[in-house]
Amino acid sequence: MSVRVRFAPSPTGFLHIGGLRTALYNYLFARHHGGACILRIEDTDQTRFVEGAEENIIDICRWAGMEFDESPEKGGPHGPYRQSERTDIYRQYANELLSKDMAYRAFDTSEELDAMRERQKNAGIAAKYDRTVMRSEYTLGPDETKRLLDEGADYCIRLKVPVSGDIRFNDIVRGEVIVNARDVDDQILLKSDGFPTYHLANVVDDHLMEISHVIRGEEWLPSTPKHVLLYQAFGWDMPKFAHLPLLLNPDKSKMSKRFGDVFAKSFREKGFFADALVNFVALLGWNPTSDREIFSMQELIDLFTLEKVNKAGAVFDTKKLEWMNAQYLRNADPESLLPQLQSILKEHHIEVADERAKGILTLLRERITFLNEIPGFGAYMFSDDYVIDEEYKAKHWTADSGAIITSLLPIVKGLEDFNHIAINDAVAAFTKENGIASKLFIHPLRMILTGKPVGAGLYETMEMLGKEVCIRRIERFLSQEGK
Ligand code: GLU
Repeated sequence: MSVRVRFAPSPTGFLHIGGLRTALYNYLFARHHGGACILRIEDTDQTRFVEGAEENIIDICRWAGMEFDESPEKGGPHGPYRQSERTDIYRQYANELLSKDMAYRAFDTSEELDAMRERQKNAGIAAKYDRTVMRSEYTLGPDETKRLLDEGADYCIRLKVPVSGDIRFNDIVRGEVIVNARDVDDQILLKSDGFPTYHLANVVDDHLMEISHVIRGEEWLPSTPKHVLLYQAFGWDMPKFAHLPLLLNPDKSKMSKRFGDVFAKSFREKGFFADALVNFVALLGWNPTSDREIFSMQELIDLFTLEKVNKAGAVFDTKKLEWMNAQYLRNADPESLLPQLQSILKEHHIEVADERAKGILTLLRERITFLNEIPGFGAYMFSDDYVIDEEYKAKHWTADSGAIITSLLPIVKGLEDFNHIAINDAVAAFTKENGIASKLFIHPLRMILTGKPVGAGLYETMEMLGKEVCIRRIERFLSQEGK
């Protein structure tokens, strides 16, 4: 059997980080098996449609490095891939179930349904449609049903769920799942407006699109028994199911919009690298090894198996994601980050030659998490107009500092070749000869040249700044503050 999987989001909002994980697991699974990964837009609930959501889903998936083999954009042998363009198909299949007596028409108004729920609530029983009591074609009988149909009365089509017996299916992540049919509602399949519900459209499409594995979030697990009944009613083979564990906040509550940002696009906007986010999201509920955290997309593809997906909820640890981003920042080839870095610098109206931009990146990246921190964290690399950390200054600028830095200035000025080794050698020789402890000039110099206590090695920083800039800054400071 060839592997065909689908990511089937509803365009009801921007792509959530959980949606990104679902897309990614489908993608990894498909690529691992040399199969196809399909994007299907499930937009049959017109009331929840959000303008721009579909574009956002496609945009984020592409940014994350996932290209679909079949999609609304790309087309494919089983299109259209947008459910709102397939409504005739669902109607046809709903009618097939009617003719097989596996589904039935129900004429209840929303008031009648509300009243039913109210009665059930008062009686302390779970809300469930009773086709032997409500205005279904079973209670109405064929003549009254025909009369209503001729009259053009509104009706929906419901699934005729068996009154008893077990519904069983196997889930690759959770093992065997058994639900009693008694606990399953006569699901609406086709609404009175002629649009299908998620359940009908999802099953019909998974069948027609020859989906081999349904990989989706755990929140869809309670829907699966209904889907199993639909496959049985149609007489179709079932795909294999794998329900992915919930994403949790660090306090183990369900990750939701209430806790900070959960949209994938927010992570991109904050400056996370796509490959770092993909790496992190891949490990939310799956880990191929116990001793490694950093994986490229290709490595994830090579290693991915559904069997290793955990049942337990996966905690979303932002600190770990930040750590991962910093790893990507440190280990990337500076050349590959250059276009992104240059565009960040440009946004800050900073113009720097490529070689220097790469040099600055290499010096600063050990100390930051995001590429976009460079203009702020490394302000002193680009302009003389940087802020001096007053606390740092107060701590290290002593009564002797002015004299010490003044005595060092000619050493700096005298250097022919202004590289960090030469600077180090000259400064070390001079301070040793004059018995000046390193902390007495290292911190004051760093404070003068960069304004802050953290940064790359002082002499590397000086080399990057250049001789002229260093002298200018030292002289400026001495003339303002030094005695
Ligand atoms: N349209 C559903 C969603 O928004 C798809 C669930 C499924 O994959 O079956 O997540």
